[in-house]
Amino acid sequence: MNTHILGFPRIGRNRELKRALEHFWKGRSDETALLELARSIKKNNWLIQAEAGLNWITTGDFSLYDHVLDTLCMLGLVPDRFHGEQGKIDLTTYFHMARGDIERNVPAMEMTKWFDTNYHYIVPEFAGEPSVRLGSSRLLNDTKAVLALGLRPKPVLLGPLTLLCLGKQDRPGARWAWMAPLLEMYARVIAKLDPLCDWIQIDEPVLCTDLSPEARARALSAWARLAGAVSGSRLLLTTYFGPLAENLDLALESCFGGLHLDLVRGGEDLDPVLERLPESMSLSLGLVNGRNIWKTDLTEAAVLGRRVRDRLGPARVLMASSCSLLHAPVDLRSESDLPATLRAGMSFAVQKCHEVAVLGRSGLDIEASEELKANRADLASLRSDPLVCRATVRERTAAIDDTMLHRKQTYALRKPVQQAWLKLPPLPTTTIGSFPQTKSIRAQRKKWKKGLLDHEAYEAFLREEIGETIARQEALRLDVLVHGEAERNDMVEYFGERLDGFCFTQNGWVQSYGSRCVKPPVIFGDVARPQAMTVPWISYAQSRTDKPVKAMLTGPVTMLCWSFVREDLSRSEVCRQLALAIRDEVCDLEKAGIKIIQIDEAALREGMPLRHRDQESYLAWAVDAFRLTSAGVEDSTQIHTHMCYSEFNEIVEWIAKLDADVISIESSRSKMELLEAFRRFAYPNDVGPGVYDIHSPRIPTVDEIVALLKKALEVIPADRLWVNPDCGLKTRGWPEAVASLRNMVEATALLREEM
Ligand code: GLN
Ligand code: ZN
Repeated sequence: MNTHILGFPRIGRNRELKRALEHFWKGRSDETALLELARSIKKNNWLIQAEAGLNWITTGDFSLYDHVLDTLCMLGLVPDRFHGEQGKIDLTTYFHMARGDIERNVPAMEMTKWFDTNYHYIVPEFAGEPSVRLGSSRLLNDTKAVLALGLRPKPVLLGPLTLLCLGKQDRPGARWAWMAPLLEMYARVIAKLDPLCDWIQIDEPVLCTDLSPEARARALSAWARLAGAVSGSRLLLTTYFGPLAENLDLALESCFGGLHLDLVRGGEDLDPVLERLPESMSLSLGLVNGRNIWKTDLTEAAVLGRRVRDRLGPARVLMASSCSLLHAPVDLRSESDLPATLRAGMSFAVQKCHEVAVLGRSGLDIEASEELKANRADLASLRSDPLVCRATVRERTAAIDDTMLHRKQTYALRKPVQQAWLKLPPLPTTTIGSFPQTKSIRAQRKKWKKGLLDHEAYEAFLREEIGETIARQEALRLDVLVHGEAERNDMVEYFGERLDGFCFTQNGWVQSYGSRCVKPPVIFGDVARPQAMTVPWISYAQSRTDKPVKAMLTGPVTMLCWSFVREDLSRSEVCRQLALAIRDEVCDLEKAGIKIIQIDEAALREGMPLRHRDQESYLAWAVDAFRLTSAGVEDSTQIHTHMCYSEFNEIVEWIAKLDADVISIESSRSKMELLEAFRRFAYPNDVGPGVYDIHSPRIPTVDEIVALLKKALEVIPADRLWVNPDCGLKTRGWPEAVASLRNMVEATALLREEM
């Protein structure tokens, strides 16, 4: 059977692309050097696919920044503000679109999350009169380059429906005016590729979401225009990140030569597709998970592949990755420190290419194949690791009962009990947790990690930092202080390193946006907390002040969303284990005399399933996990949570169900408009809407903050309003942090006088 992947990571085995981009942006290297490096990464990626034995080599998946941005440049969809002198779309224009043109003060295009992944794409803009033209010919050149290597290229293009649906528009419905001119450009690109290849991959992941009626109505005619542009090659309609469900009919009527299904997340589509797939269509089976780091169960996948082959005939079946491998780290061979049993169960992008190739092998003997035998043994060794399934953890989660999800009394009754000993002034001021992660903090941590600084010396250094941070907050006259998170490299990694069931890769980087990469922790086994994780630091901070110190924890949903998660247990169950572990920490903090505890859930919103039909059940277990984490304390202990984004409209109701005493949210950039959702829903508890944007080095003025707080007071009564920045201050320098907070405290004082 034929084999292919939907795309390969672009960052290079050692994040070469990151370094090259950052050098180039700083003016330390030129365009030639950058493009030369890009060429070598691409060639390497193609050779990896060829060496694995894949039939088709994907082109057009590489990008210097983002593939949506590349598509915009290919189709000449460049917003007016970026047009240079001749309207050329050169590399300068390309990076201006991505990052803004500081010299001319032109803001970058917006960036947002690619479906439910942690990858960010550049948001297309459909504004003004539609204008398109044939731009970059990189895809054509790359496709020719693969041919020149004697390999068979399979170019990939982001499909027109997805491109249009993902963009923003200047007025309702405006995007659709762009469809016809865009399709002309698509058709011209496709016609040029047609003689060079067997397949052209058209990515339409938007089919795995709830489509608008407008989009549904236009899909078929759009695809027909593309299908009309090929003569020798065939178009493959690729869908991923979920089942097609109600959009399956559309896909089957596309007139394309093939359909790709994500069978990792959309297995429910397979039977209906086998019933109804038109004779003229091939089927690409996405069996190797592009979004995780675990080995595929090749026996199971091969059995499924065989069933499909027997039904459709081998010529109509392609074996594939579920989605692009962009979301997986590059090469497991870069890992030397992982425990052998765990490493045996893992597979990164390079290894996933081999898995796909094995599945395509003709005459694969499921019982006797050496590769399948080895795969079964590796998965068995992973499952047999004693930390994967632990009776003590399973017994505890099984014993969770409803009472553990409820505080003793309601918020209304808790509030006076808390105030009786917190004695906070009206409009209490606080911060979100982190203070600047200075060069010296990072340098000391590095030394300690390398063993160049002993543990006692490192801890003494951190205590000094914490003491200093407390003193600065006292000087600023903030009401609720924090220890500043100096000991934390990252809000998920720090806790993962202290919990059983987690492991860490050395080089498991995946692209988040542009040159930014993240290295998610891995949850491989049952989660348990061997000992307190934060208590000594918070207690030390509290010992240095008479004001209340707020403890900082990362919530279970965020821990889950920002990790690679095991696949042998449901996500909700893993989340419950995390919740119990963090609940223990909450209770220990309370025992140590800490009166306020914040549990950050930065990722609660992004963990939402793509389809409406799945969202409620997710929100239900996510909210329960938060409640399980937080509800073990006395009424007198105040629970805070923090979420840094501003799309609360559909979820305020669920946020209220968290029953946190106080929630802080990002809202300065939306000028407090998001509070409207809190008003409409009559959100009952305390709220701290951020009064300034921590993403920018600009220092907010006192007047500005006063104005925002007055706006907030129209929605949230004074006795429930807190004053804080939008998010943590770890990326800022001390001088800005202090100046901004000074203005925040002064603005609050002015308002208190008026009260
Ligand atoms: N407590 C964290 C901090 O201040 C919260 C970060 C976040 O929400 N992303 O850095
Ligand atoms: Zn935040």
